[in-house]
Amino acid sequence: MQASTDDHSDEEHSTESPDSTLNNALFQLERASQYTEVDPNVIERLKHPTKVLQVSVPLRRDSGEVEVFTGFRAQHDDVRGPYKGGLRYHPEVTAEECTGLAMWMTWKCAVMDLPFGGAKGGIAVNPKSLSHAEKERLTRRFAEELRGSIGPTKDVPAPDMGTDAQTMAWFMDAYSMQEGETIPGVVTGKPPVIGGSEGREAAPGRSVAIISREVAKYYNKPMDELTVAVQGFGSVGANAARLLDDWGAKVVAVSDVNGAAYDPDGLDTSEIPDHEQEPEAVTKFDGAPERLSNAELLELDVDILAPSAIGNVITKENANNISADIVVEGANGPTTFAADAILEERGIPVVPDILANAGGVTVSYFEWLQDINRQSWTYGEITSELETKMLSAWDDVTAVYERDEMTWRDAAYAVALSRIAAAKDTRGLWP
Ligand code: GLU
Repeated sequence: MQASTDDHSDEEHSTESPDSTLNNALFQLERASQYTEVDPNVIERLKHPTKVLQVSVPLRRDSGEVEVFTGFRAQHDDVRGPYKGGLRYHPEVTAEECTGLAMWMTWKCAVMDLPFGGAKGGIAVNPKSLSHAEKERLTRRFAEELRGSIGPTKDVPAPDMGTDAQTMAWFMDAYSMQEGETIPGVVTGKPPVIGGSEGREAAPGRSVAIISREVAKYYNKPMDELTVAVQGFGSVGANAARLLDDWGAKVVAVSDVNGAAYDPDGLDTSEIPDHEQEPEAVTKFDGAPERLSNAELLELDVDILAPSAIGNVITKENANNISADIVVEGANGPTTFAADAILEERGIPVVPDILANAGGVTVSYFEWLQDINRQSWTYGEITSELETKMLSAWDDVTAVYERDEMTWRDAAYAVALSRIAAAKDTRGLWP
């Protein structure tokens, strides 16, 4: 089965580049819908987000000057439960990007069988240009602008690119102050002292490691012979790389924005500072015999390549040079639709983001459960529940993959879409 990559002019799609996040998400949905039995009327509804909010977020700079930023919250679908998804601070955030990312959250929550829908939001701002105090003021004002549309049973934001646990703490505080009571369940990914969950920060990377371990097992690759390259050494990449290293795999390359550290005999990943310990320190690490560019890392001949930094890094320009046996997507949308078709033709399995990095939203769900029930789970409980959830989703996707002989991405979509369609069918269309 081969996807068409040249019909990028469909009027349903955005006028942005064919590789835009929204187009990528729409092409994937359309393609998967051809291989599943889902009612086309449901697919039609899922091509459109419920609501996309755009707000102005004025910020008084430390200099006294006022600058106005634009913020967004795309709420894609909530048939299975409250909207759920991150908030990113990045100069290129747009309504369209948030919509595409929100669609992926809908599928991600459904693949994991979490009682949530999908959303994503953010502010078009370079977070590196903000002082700590400016970031706090911007976040508090953003929370206020979104207040009417979010809440523990409506829409629950979380961290994403450019935001972190502290950002969520300010967001939760601003919301709670205005509502007149402490409402920890309004966001997830908070610090544990205010209702955040143990293990939340490491969870996306942990799920990338768990899925890499399972897919390696599936293709009969023993852990102690497994070679791995990880792009990105932030919370996703560093946690994935270190866990796989702990489990006996040979992590030969890791990178940050400046480039990669490479050792064909395997890096000691615990010695390399991650983004939180020291930003952009990977290429300064002197324990690696070689440096590579990010482009070179992506083309290494390894068993598993885990692009875990940003979207659109495997494109039609480099897909023919990918030499890994398996790709496990740690970032959201690292493989463009056109590149996906090339990798499929070349027989390189791609385990999709909506499964591989779903540990983040899964532990967000555990955090939300703890908050609304006023409970606190231990780290051991979190990691064991996460393991159970990931293995169960892995088994669900594997069963469809084997039964219908589709790609891993199409199989994950099939699992998600069938759950969403069943909910839509049962609830019906109002009025
Ligand atoms: N931003 C993360 C993601 O893309 C987590 C979302 C959440 O926890 O709600 O999956």
